[in-house]
Amino acid sequence: CPRVTGRTRLYGILADPIEHVKTPQVMHALFRERGVDGVLVPMHVVPEDLSRTLDGLRGLQNFGGFIATVPHKGDMLDLCDEITDEATRIGAVNCVRREPDGRMVGTMLDGIGFLEGLRGSGIDVAGRRVLLVGAGGAASAIAFALAGGHAGRLTIANRTVGRARDLADRIAAHYPGLPVAAVGSDEGAGALDLVVNATSLGMRPGDPLPVNPETLGPGQAVAEVIMDPAETPLLAVARSRGCRVHAGLPMLEKQIELMARHMGAIS
Ligand code: NDP
Repeated sequence: CPRVTGRTRLYGILADPIEHVKTPQVMHALFRERGVDGVLVPMHVVPEDLSRTLDGLRGLQNFGGFIATVPHKGDMLDLCDEITDEATRIGAVNCVRREPDGRMVGTMLDGIGFLEGLRGSGIDVAGRRVLLVGAGGAASAIAFALAGGHAGRLTIANRTVGRARDLADRIAAHYPGLPVAAVGSDEGAGALDLVVNATSLGMRPGDPLPVNPETLGPGQAVAEVIMDPAETPLLAVARSRGCRVHAGLPMLEKQIELMARHMGAIS
């Protein structure tokens, strides 16, 4: 636990629910390693209160910025005063810097964190046929990262198929050479090399699996965005069916330094 004094800079993570977040532990390990006098506080904010929470944080002089996670990443686009090109393209914000004058500058780092985490497990997306489940903030960032990493084919499956279509259209507009399709989450996706769960399914006990386990088998890799539990029911079933599995925590670990830099905690 960091030692807090009057000089300590404050940072936050905004989420609803908040109990599952791993960011404070991971960020404090980085702060210790780099000698940063800072503390990152979990902040439980429901969507209706997001706008007035931001107004309050603008006035907090020793506040450096915050990480935004479920369900705030989309709403943050309109609430920030400035957003990076990356966040605009993806349509979501997951990290916000508070400037000394109170202006909020948002960016999006989920995609780069996911791709680098996968690379750390020796999984290269180049040329691979990928099923991405989900079309929210994390999924959008991952879709752009997969396209930028030269995936061979991308199928986006989501409960709300319209959101999957919208994401597929945005990917197609930026990466016209990549075959991309949108399906409902109950539809089959054909032959696949990599399945990515980018929904929140698996966070709560009793959640249904995000994909039909019968479509999984040896030769495939299955990657997760969920960090708690570390071994989700999807990863457990994928492992039992002979797939290579990749958990959610490396995605956060890989982007934590970039987040600290964006919030001005490290240079
Ligand atoms: P969003 O709220 O933006 O998107 C949620 C997604 O999950 C949507 O595609 C939504 O589908 C789907 N979903 C939610 N509930 C259900 C359900 N009951 N049945 C089917 N689909 C469902 O959230 P994020 O994209 O920001 O986050 C998603 C997950 O990623 C979270 O668990 C978050 O903790 C994790 N995450 C992990 C990171 C890491 O570093 N490892 C970083 C960022 C996020 P629909 O469109 O139909 O609502």
